This record gives sequence, C-alpha cells and structure tokens, in this order.
Amino acid sequence: MMEKSGEDSRGPKDDMVVFSNGCREEPSGGDGGVSEAESRSQGAAAAVSPQKFTFSPKPSIEDIRRMQADFTDERDWNKFHQPRNLLLAMVGEVGEVAELFQWRGEVAEGLPDWTESEREQLAHELSDVLIYLVELAEKCRVDLPQAVLRKMALNRLKYPASKSQDARLGSAVQQ
Ligand SMILES: [Mg+2]
Repeated sequence: MMEKSGEDSRGPKDDMVVFSNGCREEPSGGDGGVSEAESRSQGAAAAVSPQKFTFSPKPSIEDIRRMQADFTDERDWNKFHQPRNLLLAMVGEVGEVAELFQWRGEVAEGLPDWTESEREQLAHELSDVLIYLVELAEKCRVDLPQAVLRKMALNRLKYPASKSQDARLGSAVQQ
C-alpha cells in the first residue's frame, strides 16, 4: 500500500511516493520521472524508470537486535538460538526468498510484474533473513554496523572506483 504525500513542507516532495512503511521513492530525473505506482497503473510491464530508493531511518540494526532479543527472551527460545542453529535458520529463510524468484527468469529492478501480495511476501522473507542475520551477529559478538564500515573500507581499497571504469561484468564480485 502506498500513498502520495507532500502535505508538509518538511515532508516528502510532491512527486515522491511514500510507502506505508515509511520508505520513499522519487524520480531520479527532473523530467519524465514516473513513479513505480504510476508505472504499474499504466501497465508498464518491463520499463521501470531508474529511481532512487531509500530505506526509512528506523528501526536501526540495534533496534532490530533488541526487538528480536526481546521476542526470543519472552518465549525462552535462547536455548535454541545458538550460532549454528541461527545460521541454518537464516539459510532456510534465504531459500524462502529464492523460492519467490524461482522459475521467473530475470526479474527487472522494482519488480514491475509482481503483485502487491508477492511484494509483501518478499518483504516478509527478506525480513526473516535480516532478523536471523542480526541475531547471528549478536550471538557471535559481531558489532554489525561497525563491521560493515570496516568491510566497506576494505572493499573500497580492493576495488578502487578509478579502476572500475574499465571493469566488465563478472570482474567485481565482492568476497
Ligand atoms: Mg520465512
């Protein structure tokens, strides 16, 4: 579900689509930009305009860690949530994400051919993956936000942007 917004000068711009979860999507160009909702309503099956997409700022990764820790504590499930079990649970959820893409062939960015129900199912399964990933990091004592900063720094060193101009597909897979 999404709605147009723009009622507040401090809020989203008039041409920005605001999803019910707070995510925002806006046209990348000043002219000819078409929102995802407009694209679908116009029956644009494959051609979705390049758009900037951002996450809502909350919840943070720490918020997610705390929510899942409370959920687990309240059910006395910590005896099951050791690192290996969490890893296997996460891989299982990755499989559930893969199942949604299975047999579709290539899928265009923005998922223009997917129904709202399919998108919501994908949101659920990606959330399952993230929740288990965050809990796995917690149980392994990996400070995930800081670890991401360190890894991104390493990635920048390993794959300098100046050298990527000549890069071809398949040569820039992060490891
Ligand atoms: Mg699931």
